[in-house]
Amino acid sequence: MSFLNEKHLLTIVQKSGIGILILNENFKIILTNHWFLKRSFLDEQHLDNKLIFDVFPELVGTRTLKSIEQCLEFSQYSILTHTLNPFPFPLFDNEQKIEKKERIYQYLHVIPISIDDEQNRFCMIQITDVSQQVTREKLLREQMVVAKEREVEAKKASQAKTDFLASMSHEIRTPLNAILGMADTLTETNLTNEQMEYLTVLRNSGKALYNIINDILDLSRIESGKLEIEHIEFSIRDLLKETISLFLMKAKSKGIQISYSVSDDIAEQIKGDSTRIQQILINLIGNAMKFTEIGKIYVDASLSQDQKSLCLIVEDTGIGIPNEKLNSIFESFTQVDSSTTRRYGGTGLGLTITKKLILMMNGEISVQSQLGKGSKFVLNIPYEGLVHRDSNIHQHWLDLELPDAENFPKCRILLAEDSEENVFIIKTFLRKYPIELVIAKNGKIALQMFQSEKFDIVLMDMQMPEMDGLEATKQIRLYEHNQNIDPLFAIPIIAISANVQKEDISKSFMAGITSYISKPVRKIEILKLIYFYLAL
Ligand code: ADP
Repeated sequence: MSFLNEKHLLTIVQKSGIGILILNENFKIILTNHWFLKRSFLDEQHLDNKLIFDVFPELVGTRTLKSIEQCLEFSQYSILTHTLNPFPFPLFDNEQKIEKKERIYQYLHVIPISIDDEQNRFCMIQITDVSQQVTREKLLREQMVVAKEREVEAKKASQAKTDFLASMSHEIRTPLNAILGMADTLTETNLTNEQMEYLTVLRNSGKALYNIINDILDLSRIESGKLEIEHIEFSIRDLLKETISLFLMKAKSKGIQISYSVSDDIAEQIKGDSTRIQQILINLIGNAMKFTEIGKIYVDASLSQDQKSLCLIVEDTGIGIPNEKLNSIFESFTQVDSSTTRRYGGTGLGLTITKKLILMMNGEISVQSQLGKGSKFVLNIPYEGLVHRDSNIHQHWLDLELPDAENFPKCRILLAEDSEENVFIIKTFLRKYPIELVIAKNGKIALQMFQSEKFDIVLMDMQMPEMDGLEATKQIRLYEHNQNIDPLFAIPIIAISANVQKEDISKSFMAGITSYISKPVRKIEILKLIYFYLAL
C-alpha cells in the first residue's frame, strides 16, 4: 500500500466500475466518480459541494435520503435493492434513454466512512447497474409463466388422452364383447371341423384385440397416475397354479414343458396386489411361451435371505435376447427387431407395463439372457407374509362347482340392459338354465319393474340411456329402505360394466351394488356369480 499516493487512490475511485458519490456530514457532495458523471449526464461543477437534495430534489422524502441521513447521523450501513426502489438517481445509459425516461436499474450500498482520529464523517453511496440482471429476471419470470402454462396445457392434453382412451376402450369393448360372446356360444353348436377352425381364428383374434386394448388402457392409466396398487390377502400358491394352468394347453400344443415351484417358507396368505402380480406373470410367461420353440419354461417363487422380498423368476429355453437389446426391451413399443411383430405378433407394450407395475409396487425387475439358449426374468417385490389361515372359510365364488343345468336353482332375474346384442348374449348364456330372464331397456323401466314384480337377482348394466345403472341402483336401494326391507335380505344387484376403473367400481359400490362383473362377460363367470347369490 505504501507506494499508493493520494493521486493513485483518487484515480482508482474515479475509474471504478461502479458509481461512487461521497457526501460530507452536511449532505454536500464532495466526490463523484466517472461512472456516476457519465450516467447522470451532469458535470462536476454542477455537483461539487452542492447539497444532494438540491441536485436531486426528488430524493426528498424517499428511503434513499432516509438511509443517507441515518448513515451520517448514526453511522448506519444500508443496502437498497432494486426490488423496492429500482431507480433512485436519474441515471441513463445514453441520450435516447433520457428521452424515453428509461433509467438504469440501481442497487445501492450506503456506507458510513469515519476516518481514524478525525472528527469528520462521510457517507459513501455505491451504485451498481443491475439492468441486465433485472432483464434476465424478467425473462426468467416470463419463461416460468410460459412453462407453467405449458404444463397446464400438457396436463389437460394428457387428461384428454386418458379420457379419450377410456371412452374409446369402452366403445371398442362393447362390440368386441358381443363378438367374443357369440364366438363362445357358437362353439357349443354343431360345427364342421372347417367351421371350428374358422371360429378358433375368430376367437383368438378377438382375444388378441382385447388384450391390446387392455394394454393401451393400462399404460395410459399408469402414466396419468390413475392406477392404484391394491394391498389385499392372497395365496401365491393358488395364483401360480391358476396362472400356469392358463398356459398348459398352449405348452402341450407346442411340445414344451411348463412347471413351477413355490418355496416352503412363503406364507399361505401374503399381502399384495394379486391381480397385478398375475398380470405381470401372464406377460412374462406369455413372452416365454411365444419365444420358446423347444425345451421348457420354469417359474419359481422364493423369498430373499432377509425374508423382506418375494422373488419371482420366469425362465425359458427360447431364442434369447441380444445383449445390446437387454435394456431397451422395457421401453414402450420396443421389440428386439422389426421381424418380431411379423413372426410373433405383440405390441412391445407388455414389458413396459410389467416394469411400471413392478416399480409402482416398489419392486425391481432384471433380465439375463443368452442368444439361442434362453432368458431369465427376475423380479423382486416387497414381501408381507401372514400367519397361516384356513382359506376355505372365505370361499370365492369362482371356486364354486356349478351344478348341471337341470339341477340349477329356478330363479327370476331382471336384466337392465339397453344393448340388444348384450341382451342376446346373456340370453344365450343362460338359455339352458331354469332362469326366467326379464329385460328392462333402461334404469327407469328396471326400477318400475322392480317395484311391481318379484325378482331373485338384478343384473344391471351401468351405461344406459334415460336412467343409468348407478342411479337405478340408488333408487332400488331407496325403495327397499322405504319398504323397511332388512339390508340382509336386500336383492343382490350385480353390476355389468366395461368401465373397470377403480373410481367407477367404488362409485357403484357406494350406490349399493352387491357385486361387479366386467365386460366382456364370460358365461362361466356370470353363471357362477348367479349361483353364488342363489345359494346364499
Ligand atoms: P411384445 O408384445 O412384443 O411381446 P414385450 O414388451 O412383452 O412386447 O416384449 C418386448 C420384446 O422383448 C419382444 O418383442 C421380444 O423381442 C423381447 N422379449 C421379451 N421376452 C422375451 C423372451 N422371453 N425371450 C426372447 N425375447 C423376449
